[in-house]
Amino acid sequence: MERIGAHSHIRGLGLDNLLEPRANAQGMVGQGKARRAAGVIMKMVQEGRIAGRAVLIAGPASTGKTAIAMGMAKTLGSDVPFVMLTASEVFSLEMSKTESLTQAFRRSIGVRIKEETELIEGEVVEIQVDRSVTGATKTGRLTLKTTDMETVYDLGSKMIDQLQKEKVLAGDVVSIDKASGRISKLGRSFGRAKDYDAMGADTRFVACPDGELQTRKEVVHTVSLHEIDVINSRTQGFLALFAGDTGEIKPELRDQINTKVAEWREEGKAEIVPGVLFIDEVHMLDIECFSFLNRALEGDLAPLVVMASNRGVTRIRGTKYQSPHGIPADLLDRMLIISTKKYSQEEMREIVRIRCEEEDVKMEPECLDLMGVMAQETSLRYSLNLIAPSQLLAQRRKAPVVSSQDVRAAYQYYIDVQRSTAYAKETAALMFGEEEVVPAVAQA
Ligand code: ATP
Repeated sequence: MERIGAHSHIRGLGLDNLLEPRANAQGMVGQGKARRAAGVIMKMVQEGRIAGRAVLIAGPASTGKTAIAMGMAKTLGSDVPFVMLTASEVFSLEMSKTESLTQAFRRSIGVRIKEETELIEGEVVEIQVDRSVTGATKTGRLTLKTTDMETVYDLGSKMIDQLQKEKVLAGDVVSIDKASGRISKLGRSFGRAKDYDAMGADTRFVACPDGELQTRKEVVHTVSLHEIDVINSRTQGFLALFAGDTGEIKPELRDQINTKVAEWREEGKAEIVPGVLFIDEVHMLDIECFSFLNRALEGDLAPLVVMASNRGVTRIRGTKYQSPHGIPADLLDRMLIISTKKYSQEEMREIVRIRCEEEDVKMEPECLDLMGVMAQETSLRYSLNLIAPSQLLAQRRKAPVVSSQDVRAAYQYYIDVQRSTAYAKETAALMFGEEEVVPAVAQA
């Protein structure tokens, strides 16, 4: 399922270190300007320099707006929340629009909680080296976390072998070279924090002579504000997190949580990690939602809100006024707007090729050319949708590679929007049996 999801081939924004877009990287093709703009924003998010702002990705259908948002999500660290929402999800019978948006906001704010714990002797741990560079030699920093027993045991025992090879004794403080994984001794300590500090060791790792690991570690968990709300909500309880059915949460409870989190921050126990909330099809929101967003973006705890729309000037839902993308002018004014443009035939061919690779479909080069032309004439989505049926048709004639004849056959089986519209116009009278319906459908 992972692999066949529409955006499963997107592994990032495909930018280099200078945030310049590579022609074809991480599953991303073309749309360089928009990708660069998105990359700059993500850089600011990672540095914690942007929150409470709104970004709009605007452009025609199938120009990669969602793909860019997915690329943004992949760019973020694993503990920075990225929440995706389609505007229509806000309209539900179970909770009010504002409650549903508040929950989405709070799901997009992470709280990184630090805890100091002691590992029990012999406990198997996973060891990751995640930081480097102190002076000329690279000194690694150890992050220890217990995870799945089997993988962890494997890593743990490799680590133990190395510790024994280096003759690391109980009380030795070690550092790990990030590149080579080599262990070197920094000095000795018997668990006193000041010894570690004196050695400049940023790691608190002590090995026992018999190869068991004994350590003091800082465990960091990141949970979202919404998760904290739900866990503390008396009517819900943490099980609601698994059911996903959290219902409405009382504002007083949220106030209490905010106060608590502020206290943890003061005490250095927690850090706020503003994440990203992506709202697709944003023109589906109505004026009440927009006014809520305007206000919520100004709050202390606001994520970066990225919205996408493929509409031009259209009516703002809930009013009789028209506005670009159906978004009120005051909200639009505070947004950074990224625009996407239509792809060239060559770019569309490349996207089809990447999708074929992702879906394990072999396609002849001329057939890919045909797909490129077809995407230009019909739509990129339509062409992407024909990959799987074409493969099935190729299999039926026992061909290992999809060729133009399979795509042509699939094109006959499934009609695209243009042909569907023509067909609807032709048959409207027949289908509806009412003459006055005809002009309305024809107009559409
Ligand atoms: P809509 O306005 O209809 O929601 P969209 O602009 O969000 O469209 P996407 O859904 O992102 O368009 O794109 C359609 C398909 O093409 C998706 O499968 C997407 O992953 C893929 N795609 C779009 N742009 C790119 C790109 N630049 N590189 C690789 N794949 C892309």
